[in-house]
Amino acid sequence: MRIARFTTEGVRDAQVSQHPFATEDGLGLELHRFHRADSDDVVLLLHGLPASTDMFIMPEHRNLVSFLLDSGYPDVWSLDFRMSNRFPYDTETHRFTLDDIALFDHPAALRELRRHIGNRRVHVIAQCLGSVSFMMSLAAGLVGEITSVTSNSVALVTRVPPWSRLKLALGPGFFDYVAGVSFLDSRFGDAPVMTRGWLISRAVSLFHRECDFRACHMISFMWGAGNPGLWSHENLAPETHARVADLFGANGLHYYRHMRRMVRAGHAVRHDDRFPALPKDYLALAEHISTPVLFLTGDRNHVFRDSNIGCHEIMSQARPGLHELQVLPGYGHVDPIIGKDADRDVFPHILEFLRKHSDGGADGAH
Ligand SMILES: [Zn+2]
Repeated sequence: MRIARFTTEGVRDAQVSQHPFATEDGLGLELHRFHRADSDDVVLLLHGLPASTDMFIMPEHRNLVSFLLDSGYPDVWSLDFRMSNRFPYDTETHRFTLDDIALFDHPAALRELRRHIGNRRVHVIAQCLGSVSFMMSLAAGLVGEITSVTSNSVALVTRVPPWSRLKLALGPGFFDYVAGVSFLDSRFGDAPVMTRGWLISRAVSLFHRECDFRACHMISFMWGAGNPGLWSHENLAPETHARVADLFGANGLHYYRHMRRMVRAGHAVRHDDRFPALPKDYLALAEHISTPVLFLTGDRNHVFRDSNIGCHEIMSQARPGLHELQVLPGYGHVDPIIGKDADRDVFPHILEFLRKHSDGGADGAH
């Protein structure tokens, strides 16, 4: 049976509720709550681009939400922010950058979360550009007290492979002005014959012989520099591979422009002067971050390479001993979350870190 999109059927035995809220610049966003019991330690999950809450609640493997609920964290929340493929915002014409997300989305989400949980401890687990933008908010002091952050793949240091640098340099202009498409869609393979989307998909697939799924090829092209770019095939369940377009949909071109600026700088910087209150250089403020961060990265990361190794190194110079690094053998960019064995290979590392910073602390009271 086909796995339905945008459902929460992958999480059993929890009360699921939706909590819509608005940002100060006028977007409706949403938090999902997966609640079994109240807890002094609350976990908030942040997806990447072009993903959504769905990457944390996949029915076809033991997903992160269920793992946390079963492991002593009975109050888990997930945010769909403006990059979420549950919303149309990134395929509409827009000029948002990661600065907008750092300034508007995460602070508003934390306000809504705090309305429900008060001053309980909040642990954030963030993926990809959800991680970059959240760490920007944290560095800028916009999200209040956060007890711990787990960052997968990339945070405030932004390094990509040479092929991705080339795509970032030429891609947005090429697709906007030459190809005439305003977003890239992992479903372009389904477009009518000889349309722009169809041609783009066919051209991309010429360079991807590693499998027969055009959506897998498109996502590799959109964000990675490998065959495939975001995962190792052997780490995905066949059901996941067949429906990667459900998990990673379409994204606009404009966030690439901010990523290009960050990749050139080597770390998170402000895109332009629209928000002078935001720091020009987010990484320069990292020494003020007193929240412990667990940096995760696969050793086959073909999207952000060793970015998180570099970020751990730089942030540890400012705060020796505060942050941790876990390199995941055999994993890539996003299979540490969506992989069929992530509950065995990856989630226990996250759990150990959470427990260290939860009620009872590092003494092993759990
Ligand atoms: Zn594939």
